Amino acid sequence: VTEFELIARFFTRPPRRDGLAITGVGDDCALLDAGERLLAVTSDMLIEGRHFLPGCDPAAVGHKSLAVNLSDLAAAGATPRCFFLALGLPRADAAWLEAFARGMLALADRYGCQLLGGDTTRTPTLGAHADVSGPLTIAITAMGEVPRGSERTRGGARPGDELWVSGSLGDARLALAHARGELELPAADHAAVRPRMEQPEPRVALGVALRGVASSAIDISDGLLGDIAHVAARSGVAVEVEAAAVPRSAVLAAQPVALADAFALAGGDDYELLFTAPAVASAAVRTAAQAADTPVTRIGRVLVGSGVTVLDADGRPLARRFDGFDHFRA
Ligand code: ADP
Ligand code: MG
Repeated sequence: VTEFELIARFFTRPPRRDGLAITGVGDDCALLDAGERLLAVTSDMLIEGRHFLPGCDPAAVGHKSLAVNLSDLAAAGATPRCFFLALGLPRADAAWLEAFARGMLALADRYGCQLLGGDTTRTPTLGAHADVSGPLTIAITAMGEVPRGSERTRGGARPGDELWVSGSLGDARLALAHARGELELPAADHAAVRPRMEQPEPRVALGVALRGVASSAIDISDGLLGDIAHVAARSGVAVEVEAAAVPRSAVLAAQPVALADAFALAGGDDYELLFTAPAVASAAVRTAAQAADTPVTRIGRVLVGSGVTVLDADGRPLARRFDGFDHFRA
């Protein structure tokens, strides 16, 4: 069973039309009717050893914990407003907590996103090993505002739309490869890509600037192709991606092409925005990107049909398969 089969089977129920929920499970955020405006709500959990490496700089962990949530708000075009923080701690380490809070709250302050509540517990020791505790766990629920009429989901892509992505992809995966010893980067290259793994910058300004311009959006957390597949499925369309058009940093572009392709197309942890817009809106996309001071690149198109096709530089479908990240795939 995959992560998404599991969610579909046990946790997806037909939404009840109760005047509150506009959309629910299946998108980056749920949209709630809050009177004059809509509230976008998202929840993301980080576990030591899975989402960040043991011993990672606590200020970076604090930043990333909130950043991944703000990235979901950005996909929905929401302005961040507040968040709730649930912590499972193996121990109360004041120095660690001070740096964690500093990193998290610095990002929160930049976006005017207030911490309004949460929960704090101690994780238990594991069986006979009194000195080994369950892993550090951080769960955040964040909320943002969307003006009525500006709702945007993964489900709005239409045939004829173009596919766009912000920034560049694959650097976080490259930094992870270095940390795991899968390859060794020169010090300067490592210094360039490491912050992209440890301290991603959520594309909040772009998400807001694309209100009324983008027909659909998702933030890239599990790898470009897997996340495109979510948009294609929710929108009921087919998507074609040009592999060579997918933007990469100079550091990633200097790697062997098969590795650079794999990391850019399916690396994950990018927290860039993937979005679609009608072809006639391409000038409006560029204007929005300029207003948000965020680079964007056109990487493909939306067609009638279903599924995702990756094209090589000659426009032929690539034979190679790329799998997105899945917590439970066998
Ligand atoms: P994201 O990467 O944007 O956080 P995911 O792709 O991980 O979203 O999750 C897909 C959808 O499933 C989201 O709408 C998310 O809110 C929902 N979801 C994930 N886990 C659960 C759960 N345990 N119960 C209910 N909904 C869930
Ligand atoms: Mg998301």
